[in-house]
Amino acid sequence: MSLISGDSSALLVDGKLVPGSGGTFEVVNPATEEVLGAAADGTAADMDAAIEAARRAFDTTGWSREHAFRARCLRQLRDALRGHIEELRAITIAEVGAPRFLTSAAHLEGPVDDLGYFADLAENYPWQQDLGNAAPMGIPTHRYVLREAVGVVGAITPWNFPHQINFAKLGPALAAGNTVVLKPAPDTPWCAAVVGRILAEETDIPPGVVNIVTSSDHAVGALLATDPRVDLVSFTGSTATGRSVMRAASETLKKVFLELGGKSAFIVLDDADLGAACSMAAFTVCTHAGQGCAITTRLLVPRNRYDEAVRVTADALRGIRPGDPNEPGTVCGPLISEHQRARVEGYLRLAVEEGGTIVVGGGRPAEHRRGFFLEPTLIAGVDNTARVAREEIFGPVLVILPYDGDDEAIRIANDSPYGLSGAVWGTDEDRVRRVVEGVRTGTLGVNGGIWYAADAPFGGYKQSGIGREMGVAGFEEYLETKLVAEPAAKQRG
Ligand code: NAD
Repeated sequence: MSLISGDSSALLVDGKLVPGSGGTFEVVNPATEEVLGAAADGTAADMDAAIEAARRAFDTTGWSREHAFRARCLRQLRDALRGHIEELRAITIAEVGAPRFLTSAAHLEGPVDDLGYFADLAENYPWQQDLGNAAPMGIPTHRYVLREAVGVVGAITPWNFPHQINFAKLGPALAAGNTVVLKPAPDTPWCAAVVGRILAEETDIPPGVVNIVTSSDHAVGALLATDPRVDLVSFTGSTATGRSVMRAASETLKKVFLELGGKSAFIVLDDADLGAACSMAAFTVCTHAGQGCAITTRLLVPRNRYDEAVRVTADALRGIRPGDPNEPGTVCGPLISEHQRARVEGYLRLAVEEGGTIVVGGGRPAEHRRGFFLEPTLIAGVDNTARVAREEIFGPVLVILPYDGDDEAIRIANDSPYGLSGAVWGTDEDRVRRVVEGVRTGTLGVNGGIWYAADAPFGGYKQSGIGREMGVAGFEEYLETKLVAEPAAKQRG
């Protein structure tokens, strides 16, 4: 039986569930290579209609001014999604290859509940802020600031955490009063399409406020960057695509918000529990087969304990076998596609060419003859100049690097084009704090602390992005600022 009914694979355009004018394309289960079914293949014409609908809904309805109505709609969407959570979970496991244990907090229940946080912001945010009186050029004036929606948001998302990222864009963009065209990744169209069906059938969100265009063609999403009717592009994906989106958006000078790649460092200080820290680093890189932008993929250990750290980390990785994502005990599922696995395997060959050693893993697990699985892998014997230490691999692959002294650990962590996330383990609070202040990244976990939450801003320094997602900072990315000045005598209240 199909996981999905016909209407669940439609586009959502101007409040209607419609077929893609390009027909359909296949949805593949990465754990079995089985074709699960078909998704609507949106074309440039569908994208044009979706953008037009979003423009009309923004320009001709009261959506952007009706804060309480938007809060109600977002809570309605959250509650409707909660009512379909097992349907969504089944699709997420089958389409994304997401391990079941990750589907609640990271993929589904957590991000769905986060919509409530943004509903609260729609209701409670100070939309008008008083600047008080002044006398610029000698004229007594009262000033206030209005925060207003930016307009039409084009949201382009990747396949690795599709619900979390789709909701992290829909939540704040809608709460702020924007209308949205969402273009999900070609590998995970159903995750978005089912949300479109639920939104259309079970919420009062007006037609045109949310449009969802699935497509097999990346170029269809690229139209969101060039179209003058779109006011802001909110993009999550690779740094290379982010550059292209920013270039394309520059023609119409629209706002760009970018959440991009990472090569984050896990720094083990010499007073840390080496075994616990290295085991945690191994576990982290296996989670969702390493397909997370903020996963720590460079393990930095004191040089005088390098051999011991390599041994402990290799043992931990050996103990984590890739498995069926449906099984509750599976940590490391498949990679999303054959293309992605081939790309990761290319990096493993490169590691050897660069003089590195594959200490553990490096192959396809013998027990899975189907599915895009790869063994958890440890690369040792390279330094931070190696491409495998500098480029995002996006698989269950950890590179272990030695350092001498805390300052060198900070230098190596920062010697990267990226600056997304990281981890520091140590017992001396002052030393840990020095490292925290020295590492240039958007988030950092200390001794296992979890930085992800609805109210916690997430994003990158350097080439890991521009702007922040989540929290008040993330909400404000979707707002414009209007300063109003009136004669001081007119001040009210
Ligand atoms: P990708 O850049 O290939 O694709 C992302 C999205 O962009 C997809 O929807 C794709 O169809 C679309 N796209 C591709 N080319 C485009 C173009 N020229 N113009 C407009 N849209 C285009 O990324 P991916 O392989 O889907 O995802 C993995 C990447 O995403 C990794 O680099 C990862 O680090 C990054 N990522 C970042 C975050 C973050 O928050 N920083 C979160 C998750 C994933």
